Amino acid sequence: MSEKPIIELRDVAKSFGTVKALNGINANIREGEFFSLLGPSGCGKTTLLRMIAGFEDPSGGEIVIDGKSMRGIPANRRPTNMVFQSYAIFPHLSVAENVAYGLKRKKLPKSEVTDEVNKALSMVDLSGYGGRAAHELSGGQRQRVALARALVMRPKVVLLDEPLSALDKKLREQMQVELRQLQQSIGITFILVTHDQEEALIMSDRIAVMFEGDIAQIDSPEGLYRHPVSKRVASFIGVMNFLDARTTGQSDAGVSLDIPALGKVTVPASHVPDGLDANSVESVGVRPEMLTILFDERETAEAVAKGVVTSTSYYGDMTYYSVALNETKAPVTLSMRNTAGRSVLPAGSEVRVGWGAESIVLFE
Ligand code: ATP
Repeated sequence: MSEKPIIELRDVAKSFGTVKALNGINANIREGEFFSLLGPSGCGKTTLLRMIAGFEDPSGGEIVIDGKSMRGIPANRRPTNMVFQSYAIFPHLSVAENVAYGLKRKKLPKSEVTDEVNKALSMVDLSGYGGRAAHELSGGQRQRVALARALVMRPKVVLLDEPLSALDKKLREQMQVELRQLQQSIGITFILVTHDQEEALIMSDRIAVMFEGDIAQIDSPEGLYRHPVSKRVASFIGVMNFLDARTTGQSDAGVSLDIPALGKVTVPASHVPDGLDANSVESVGVRPEMLTILFDERETAEAVAKGVVTSTSYYGDMTYYSVALNETKAPVTLSMRNTAGRSVLPAGSEVRVGWGAESIVLFE
């Protein structure tokens, strides 16, 4: 993957009558990356994808693809191709006919069409399936045909609008991994629209989190999860406990806080967001897996808080506990892996909970 932008979004805005769908989006999408637009329903992600594809014109701003402004350039002359959900393939046509469909307009000689179709089928690991009727394929195979149909057009950017949402959970999870591997082996830029945060985390190099027509944060999956810029982003990506906190000091070492549920702590400077006004911190975040029940009384941790289990949810591999810490009212959620020898604690159990300064996320 290179740092070179393949797509530049410059103040891209869109209104439908009085509805403002996008407020002026700025972002660069890099060549060869898997980039996701993630956000709740109505945040504008599909509108943005459709404008990149050329199905919709921006009301303001500019979209540049591969160094060229797309103003006035129709969808079929853009170096992009959209993958629709797998049910958009034609069941009565063969796999090869489905893939060749988009090439018709190009009026290529027959042998060249066969060549291109075979190349595209091999990219999606469906060599030898060309003669099959599309309705004889599994859901996952149909999805790959839909992708081959886009790839055969040799796009610079593949656009995917919730391509997996019609598949059942198991197949969807399998396709997430497959699509990601395919994208990496082909090396073409993919832009995915999804409202499923787990899907975005698994598949993407970078994710743009969108709310109400704006991008709230663009970062790698790990960056978003570990360093969300706002409470809103933090609660949209995974589970985050928010705890009341009060700043007691700030120095080169970091920000010192009193967190009634956990205790006193200094969050190291390396974990303090640039430009944070420490005095405006009123609450902090901590992920469930960063809090650990110390089952053995000899076990220690960087810091320990006392608590009482208020409820237990058993998931087989994991148990989620609600624990009231240091006699505070709002319980925190914490997750424990059910490794050998670890029992599931019932509500009412008294526990010691280990935690550390580096897991505390600061918000203004
Ligand atoms: P979803 O996940 O539900 O598809 P989304 O994030 O993709 O949501 P968009 O479809 O981009 O959201 O819609 C953004 C806003 O623009 C919404 O308020 C929507 O109602 C509005 N909108 C989208 N398309 C049109 C249209 N053709 N005419 C009028 N309003 C529209």
